[in-house]
Amino acid sequence: MPELPEVETVRRGLAPRCTGRRIGRAEFRRGDILIVPEEAGDDPARWAAPFTGGRTIIRVGRQGKYLLLDMDGDAGWAVHLGMSGSMVVHAEDTPADQHTHVILHLDDGVEVHYRAPRRFGRWIAAPCGPALSAVQDRVGIDILDPTLDVDEFANRLGGSRATIKSRLMDQRLVAGLGNIYADEALFAAAVHPMCPASDLDVGQWATLLRCTRAVLHRALGNGGTTFSSYRDAAGRRGGHSDHLRVYGRESEDCLRCSGYVERIKVAGRSTHCCATCQRAPV
Ligand SMILES: [Zn+2]
Repeated sequence: MPELPEVETVRRGLAPRCTGRRIGRAEFRRGDILIVPEEAGDDPARWAAPFTGGRTIIRVGRQGKYLLLDMDGDAGWAVHLGMSGSMVVHAEDTPADQHTHVILHLDDGVEVHYRAPRRFGRWIAAPCGPALSAVQDRVGIDILDPTLDVDEFANRLGGSRATIKSRLMDQRLVAGLGNIYADEALFAAAVHPMCPASDLDVGQWATLLRCTRAVLHRALGNGGTTFSSYRDAAGRRGGHSDHLRVYGRESEDCLRCSGYVERIKVAGRSTHCCATCQRAPV
């Protein structure tokens, strides 16, 4: 599933092509991708406008794993790529296959194709405010937000006996990490994924925040990790798969110590760690 580096890579590709462009037509080829908030129900004319086109994209943002398309007139879409979605910029009249669920036709002839071979992606409408308003109850502060300091990081994730991995992946606490980068971040910080969050000390919180950001920046530098059908906004695959240090390396030698990588289950998710240098909780 695309995580912060993949979504940010897509955002960086889309922003220069889409910002300032008017949407001539927004073509939803399947209706169940689109989610309209209930509270907009009594004023359909207002929320219908963005879907029928005519709005200008003023900003392509991101928070956590959501792409945020803000439009003029105080409306927007929060777009989730789901398990395998992509948003690729094409020339006019590019043929679309059955997995292309949304096409934005921009006024300069460019088409943005939202494609999701495995479903679960969604476009959530924000009819009366910025795109973020549509998802703010389910997306906490972005892990790369510079205003997030160690104290707030520890406050948000600590205070629970739940495993640190499940806390790291809880998008309402801090947004952006999924299964791959949570494993990479915990390995980099030498913290065991099953460690109860409330057991981390001040130094470990600082190390974990620093290592998490370093892991994400490194992946961003490589254009994200390619898995299944992930593509950036130009349709290219990510180059980070060869750089993962623990995820997917079950039974291989640990890259830091003489131990080896184990695969265990944490919070129902396949988890990779080294039981030697990421000491298991007792
Ligand atoms: Zn190790």
